[in-house]
Amino acid sequence: MQTVTLNNGTEMPILGFGVYQIPSEETERAVADALAAGYRLLDTAAAYGNEGAVGRAIEAGGIPREELFVTTKLWVQDAPAQDNTRRALETSLNKLGLDHVDLYLMHQPYGDVYGQWRAMEAANREGLAKAIGVANFHPDRLLDLVLNNEIVPAVNQIETHPFFQRTTDHDLMREHGVQHQSWGGFAEGKNDLFTHPVLSGIGKAHDKSAAQVVLRWLIQRDIVTIPKSVNPDRMAQNFDVFDFELTDDQMVQIAGLDTGTTLFFDHRDPDMVAWLSKRRLDS
Ligand code: NAP
Repeated sequence: MQTVTLNNGTEMPILGFGVYQIPSEETERAVADALAAGYRLLDTAAAYGNEGAVGRAIEAGGIPREELFVTTKLWVQDAPAQDNTRRALETSLNKLGLDHVDLYLMHQPYGDVYGQWRAMEAANREGLAKAIGVANFHPDRLLDLVLNNEIVPAVNQIETHPFFQRTTDHDLMREHGVQHQSWGGFAEGKNDLFTHPVLSGIGKAHDKSAAQVVLRWLIQRDIVTIPKSVNPDRMAQNFDVFDFELTDDQMVQIAGLDTGTTLFFDHRDPDMVAWLSKRRLDS
């Protein structure tokens, strides 16, 4: 598996498996299938409600821990967040049945961000999280965090797909050593991504699907991607993207699909800030 090297030297697979919106009762089977298909990077979150099922699949899979790369995410914590963050990480580790995660992400740029980050820095120093990072941070918030804290986030996981390519974010992250990770790489199928004429046309030239073209395009931009599927055939298809290369012309064609706006919601929208900030998880 091709990897990227994070800013603290940790190696991270460039392709993994996301479990958002997989109901807990289906997650153990889905993760077992993904591990059997060859995935070694698993991306979950406290907010997905399926960490326990991910943990059971990891245990049943019997794959040596050092071959896996497990990411989970911290939900928004109240101030002062240091104790709450520590407790949230311990809860996630218990559910996952692990003594450390490979990557711990702050899921949203809200709440006591600095308190949360200081607790995450402490967890990183203790080895409970081999790397720490953030998700859904726009460039202004990311740069503030980078410039005013000790540990630079290793990763920023943000909505990134052919219709929202995040080139400005990407350049800023690269400049500061923050690895770009895509969520919603298929835009969850919006804009008819899986049958889009440009993506399907490029796929035809390589005997690949539009989905495979999208994953290849992300990988060629050095962006870590975590497609979600509950279907073993599609899991295998999404994993089979290392035997072809998009040409410069094909990369330019895909660049032309960028609309520069989200297909989901803007994390700077006051209504979304209020809505997400209000949510609290039951432990
Ligand atoms: P996604 O990966 O863009 O799309 C998933 C959808 O695509 C599912 O409906 C899946 O259906 C379908 N699909 C998968 N492979 C396919 C293929 N080869 N052909 C046709 N359809 C295919 O959506 P996502 O789950 O939102 O994003 C991926 C991961 O990113 C998540 O699972 C999660 O780990 C992470 N994420 C993070 C955040 C954040 O705030 N940090 C937000 C959203 C997501 P089937 O399952 O039926 O195959």
